[in-house]
Amino acid sequence: MGQLNAPGAAPLRPAAAGGFDVLVVGAGFAGSVLAERLASQLGLRVLVCDKRPHIGGNAHDRYDDAGLLVHPYGPHIFHTNSAEVFDYLSQFTEWRPYQHRVLASVDGQLLPMPINLDTVNRLYGMTLTALEMEGFLASMAEKLESVKTSEDMVVSKVGRDLYNKFFRNYTRKQWGLDPSELDASVTARVPTRCNRDDRYFTDTYQAMPRAGYTRMFERMLAHPNIKLMLNTDYREIEHLIPWRHMIYTGPIDAYFNYRHGRLPYRSLRFEHVTLPQEHFQPVGTVNFPNDYAYTRTTEFKHLTGQQHTQTSVVYEFPCDEGDPYYPVPRPQNTELYRLYQAEAERLPNVSFVGRLATYKYYNMDQVVAQALTTFKKLKAELSPEPVLVAGVAAADAAPLAAARSANDAAAALPVNGAPVRALREAPGAAFQGSSAP
Ligand code: FAD
Ligand code: UDP
Repeated sequence: MGQLNAPGAAPLRPAAAGGFDVLVVGAGFAGSVLAERLASQLGLRVLVCDKRPHIGGNAHDRYDDAGLLVHPYGPHIFHTNSAEVFDYLSQFTEWRPYQHRVLASVDGQLLPMPINLDTVNRLYGMTLTALEMEGFLASMAEKLESVKTSEDMVVSKVGRDLYNKFFRNYTRKQWGLDPSELDASVTARVPTRCNRDDRYFTDTYQAMPRAGYTRMFERMLAHPNIKLMLNTDYREIEHLIPWRHMIYTGPIDAYFNYRHGRLPYRSLRFEHVTLPQEHFQPVGTVNFPNDYAYTRTTEFKHLTGQQHTQTSVVYEFPCDEGDPYYPVPRPQNTELYRLYQAEAERLPNVSFVGRLATYKYYNMDQVVAQALTTFKKLKAELSPEPVLVAGVAAADAAPLAAARSANDAAAALPVNGAPVRALREAPGAAFQGSSAP
C-alpha cells in the first residue's frame, strides 16, 4: 500500500490537482454503497467515476418525456431478507410497499408465475387442493440422481410438461443457451408453490424507493467528501488523479484487458413505449416464454404506484452484444472467472465488488450486502490511524487517512513538510510529495 495509483503497472505521476484516498469505479449499488461508507464512516476522500452520464448503474431510474418514472435498464424490484441491508438503505430513502406479481402467457392464458396451485389448475382444467398438488407434482417430477443444470432443477421439481411450457423456451431466449447448459442456480431463482401465493418474491422486505432509485443514490453520494465524475471511464483518469485504493465495479475481464479471454455476459435491448392509456396489463410483468423475441413486458406504474393518464412499458429483447447485464452461470465461465479472480486477489490496492466485478448473478440486495461486507474488511486497512505526522494526529487529516503505517504516513507528507492541517485546504498536496521520484 506504499505506492500511489496502485495496481503496480500504473506509473506514478505528480498530482495535477487534488488527491483521493479512494477511487471508486462505477456509481451503481456496489460503488455508491462503498463510497458512502468510506466517506461517512472513515472520513476518507472518495472520487466516484462512471462512464455513463448518470448514477445508479443498472438500477438508475428517470422520468420519461411523458413524466412517467421508468427504469431505462429494465424493471428493478427491491426485495431482501436482510434487515441490515434494508436498514442501511432506509437511511437514504422512504419506501413504498410493493409486492411484485408476474403472469406467464402460456397456451393462450395468462397464468401465475412462479407456478402455483392456480397455475396448474387453470392450465390443466383441474381442481386440485394444495395437498393434492404436492402429489401431482411428485407424480410429474423426474427422479434424478443429481441436480446440476437448470433443466435438472425444473424437471426434478415439476416434470417435463411444465418445464417445456414455462422454462425451456424462456431460458433459451433469455440466455441463448439451453437450460441443460446453465447452472441449476439460474432457474432455482424461481420457486414452485403448492399454495395460491402468487407473489414473485416472498422476502421479508419488499418495497420500492418512494422517490425512485436515482433519488436514493443522490442522497447516498451527497457527502462532502465524495466527488463525482460522470461520462468518465476510469482509464481516462486513473493515472492523472492520485488515489490510494480503488474500488472497481466494472466487468472483471475488462479490468485485466481480457488477457485470459472474454467472460460471457448476456445483454438486453430495451424497447420503451409510452402509451396514451391509463393501464396496459393486469400486473407488473407478463412473461412470454413461447412467443415473440422479447421475454417479458413490464408496466412501470405497477412498480412505482404513479398516477398518470398515460402508461409506460418496457420490452426486453435478449442479445449477446451490448452492455454487460448478466453473468452467465455455467461451469466453464466460473473456471475462467477464477483465473481473473486469482489475479484480482494479487492486487492489494484494488477491491473488486458487485455483479460484474465478481461475476455473480446477484440481485441488488446481494450487491449491497457484498459492499457492506467489503467495507467491514477494508475498514481496518483504510481507517485513519492515530499516527503522529508532523506533530498532528493523522486521523485529523482525511487525505492521509489511508496511510496504514508510520512509513506510509511519512511517505504521504508533502515534500515541503507543510503541517498536515494545511492539507485540508489543498487536499491533493499530501500525495504530491510521495509521487515524485
Ligand atoms: P452496475 O449497476 O452494473 O454498476 C456498475 C457501474 O460501473 C455501471 O454504472 C457502469 O457504467 C460502471 N462502469 C463499468 N466499467 C466502467 C469503467 N471502465 N469506467 C467507469 N465506469 C465503469 N436486482 C434486483 O434486486 N431486483 C430486480 O428486479 C432486478 N432486475 C434486474 C433487471 C435487469 C434487466 C438487470 C440487468 C438486472 C436486474 N437486477 C435486479 C440486478 C441489479 O441490476 C444488480 O444487482 C445491481 O444493479 C448491480 O449493481 P453493481 O453496482 O454491481 O453494478
Ligand atoms: N425463467 C423461465 N421462465 C420464466 C421466468 C424465469 O424460464 O417465466 C428462468 C429463466 O432462465 C430466467 C431465470 O428463470 O433467466 C431467472 O428468472 P428471473 O425472473 O429471476 O430473471 P431476472 O429477473 O434476473 O431476469
